[in-house]
Amino acid sequence: MHLSRYPRLRFAHLPTPLERLDRLTEALGGPEIWIKRDDCTGMSSGGNKTRKLEFLMAEAVEQGADMVMTQGATQSNHARQTAAFAARLGMDCHILLEDRTKYQDDNYNLNGNVLLDHLHGASTEKFPGGHDMPGEMEKTAEKMRSAGRNVYVIPGGGSNATGALGYVNCALELVAQANDTGLVIDHLVHATGSSGTQAGLITGLSAINANIPLLGFGTRAPQEKQETMVYDLACKTAEKLGCPGVVSRDVVRADTSYVGEGYGLPREDTIEAVRMFAELEGILLDPVYSGKGAAGLIDYCRTGKFKAGERVVFLHTGGSAALFGYDSVLPRSRELAAE
Ligand SMILES: *Cc1c(COP(=O)(O)O)cnc(C)c1O
Repeated sequence: MHLSRYPRLRFAHLPTPLERLDRLTEALGGPEIWIKRDDCTGMSSGGNKTRKLEFLMAEAVEQGADMVMTQGATQSNHARQTAAFAARLGMDCHILLEDRTKYQDDNYNLNGNVLLDHLHGASTEKFPGGHDMPGEMEKTAEKMRSAGRNVYVIPGGGSNATGALGYVNCALELVAQANDTGLVIDHLVHATGSSGTQAGLITGLSAINANIPLLGFGTRAPQEKQETMVYDLACKTAEKLGCPGVVSRDVVRADTSYVGEGYGLPREDTIEAVRMFAELEGILLDPVYSGKGAAGLIDYCRTGKFKAGERVVFLHTGGSAALFGYDSVLPRSRELAAE
């Protein structure tokens, strides 16, 4: 396994910090909580797609693409970061956005990530929820190709074996940091969605036999489907890296009990998690991914699934740009009590 064999852009701010969350640890009164700051990767306010796009967009450059295309939910962080990479590379970017929440308000539909997509110069196109987005993207790409464009198509979330290399790299980086500082990691957790993050991490951790239990907190799919998606992609990633069969099915674990009504729809515990990180640590989560991952983390600490004295690392996957599209479900400022 030798990552420098694959084309890669060096746009990310790496290594991302690994920090102890003192006030959150104290508030939860059990395990020691650490955070891996992948919200600080850079490229249009950062997030987990930066690491994947370093490999994906390098492939686009290698193939001589003049246009990149991807798809996601209206408030997709992946779309926003792809638009930023395209801007930096002087490529056109076209994004297909799917309405998965049915939120009608202007901020959800025009602010947050959507505002940033457009600021980076990308064009966007909207589709109703449940639409065949990969199929639609292929159709649009074909149209562009017959008009003479060289289009590089990136799957939703940047989750294929190329994108997952970014999180193989993150696994190596995290274990090196822990080794350097003497931190023994008992659990590693994060929000899982289109599966590239977890697939890359588990492939990297398995390949170096780190023996660090990894758990993804789901944000969309039911458990069996989520775990199957992650496992299938991990197998492909391992194959690409020349270590086929290194990931065993039983280390691919997702807990999808914190999803709620569906993708992009926060629950009360999602909002509580966003608030706790903001008020106790000055750290911004988001209501779609990291808030649900943190809700799982908090619940596992409170219910003793993570035990006192254990050291838990929360991989912060980013997403704060979406907060500005979700103001309608977030708490408003508390007025100072009148004298
Ligand atoms: C995309 C995303 C995730 C999920 O990562 P996957 O690789 O799609 O599973 C988690 N958090 C944030 C903020 C994201 O944008």
